[in-house]
Amino acid sequence: METSENKILSVCGTDCGACYCYGKMCTRCNACEGKVFHAPEGQTCAIYDCTVNGKGFHSCGECDAAPCDIWRRTRDPKYSDAEFEENIRMRMQALKG
Ligand code: SF4
Ligand code: SF4
Repeated sequence: METSENKILSVCGTDCGACYCYGKMCTRCNACEGKVFHAPEGQTCAIYDCTVNGKGFHSCGECDAAPCDIWRRTRDPKYSDAEFEENIRMRMQALKG
């Protein structure tokens, strides 16, 4: 999904264009159907799996349950509690505009 501000958003609201991995080790989850390097080996990202494969949405922005338990289960362990809550807030803002 591309926005008018030219952000390159993934289905979970992550701005891929702002990530140092984008264009190097990662081409974004939509390009590799959720099988990104940070997903469990050989598996699809749980968020991508639910959103695109399960519900047929373009992003979690179309889902009334967002931010759901799957978002919490896929938490990057490097985040503190406060950083993760801020990350969720930013992703929701990006998805909902
Ligand atoms: S967490 Fe899942 S949906 Fe979000 S960018 Fe990574 S692969 Fe895509
Ligand atoms: S339940 Fe909704 S918010 Fe959660 S991953 Fe699936 S589509 Fe996204």
